[in-house]
Amino acid sequence: MPHLYLRIALLVCLSAARLGWAQQQPAPPVRRIIDVHLHARAAADYGPTPPPNPVSGRVPAYRTDAEVVAVTLAELKRHHVVRAVTSGSQPRVAAYLAADPARIIGALDYPDNQHAPLPDTATFRRLFAEGQFRVFGELGLQYEGKTLTDPALEPYLAICERRGIPVALHTGLGFPGIAYNDCCRNFRTRLGNPQLVEEVLIRHPRLKLQLMHMGYPYLAETKALLYIYPQLYADISVTNWILPRAEFYSYLQALVTAGYGQRLLYGSDQMAWPDAIGLSIESVEKAPFLSEKQKQDIFYNNAATFYGLR
Ligand SMILES: [Zn+2]
Repeated sequence: MPHLYLRIALLVCLSAARLGWAQQQPAPPVRRIIDVHLHARAAADYGPTPPPNPVSGRVPAYRTDAEVVAVTLAELKRHHVVRAVTSGSQPRVAAYLAADPARIIGALDYPDNQHAPLPDTATFRRLFAEGQFRVFGELGLQYEGKTLTDPALEPYLAICERRGIPVALHTGLGFPGIAYNDCCRNFRTRLGNPQLVEEVLIRHPRLKLQLMHMGYPYLAETKALLYIYPQLYADISVTNWILPRAEFYSYLQALVTAGYGQRLLYGSDQMAWPDAIGLSIESVEKAPFLSEKQKQDIFYNNAATFYGLR
C-alpha cells in the first residue's frame, strides 16, 4: 500500500509541475500585422495560368481577377494582417478597397504593369484628396532605367513632402534575367543602389521615404543612409521569403544590430502568390535573434509610426 501512496503522490507532483510549467510558458502572441508592400494584380498578369510560387512550388488557386482579390484578402485575414498598403493601377486598387476598405490602404504605383503614364499633378492631388491612394509607390523606376532623381518626378515629390504622403521606392534587385526581358531592357543593378536617393533627401528633408526590400544587397549603403537620415525607413519585403533564409537573416540581423530595429517595416511583396504572405511572416517569427518586442515593432509598431496609423 505505501507503494501505491507513493505512486499517487508522485503523479500529483508531476501533474502540478506540468501545470506550473504550462502556466509559465508565454502565450503565443496574437499578432497585429501591417503589410506595407502588397500588390493588386490581375489573374492574367503572369500568363494564362498563374505560375507556381518559385519558393514553395505552390500553384495559386485563383483563375479570375475577383478570385485574386478574394484569395489574397483571405490570406491577410488568416495571418492577422490588419492593414495592407496595396499598390497597382487605379481600377485594381479600387477593387481591393471596395472589398475590404478597413484593411486596404491604396497606393499609386509607377510604372504600373499596364504602362499607364503618371497622372498629371492636378489629377494626382485629386486622387489623393479622394482617398484613392495614401502612398506613392511602389516606384519601380529601376525597371525603366530611372532613379528617384528623375526630373519628371520632382513635382510629385514636392507634393508628397508638403502633404506628408509616404513615398515607397523599389530598391535592390529584380527577378533573375530581368534585364533581358522585353519589359525591362533598361534595368541595371546599379540603379537599385539606395544611395542614389541621397540628393532627393537633401532637396526634400521632410519627405517620408520607404526603401523597399531593405536596399538588399547594398547593406553598407543602406546603413549609411539610415544613419544620416533618421526620417528614412526600410521594408523587409521579398527578401523575407525569396532569399535563402540564412541570407535574409544575415542582412536583417546586420540592420538590427546596427540599431535600426525601429525603422524596419514588415512587407510581403505578394505579387502572384498569396502564400508569400505566410512564408514572409514565418521567416520573421522564426528569426532566432529577434526579441518579441523587435518582432512586434517590425510587424506593426514601426509602420504605425511611419504611416501615422493607430
Ligand atoms: Zn513590390
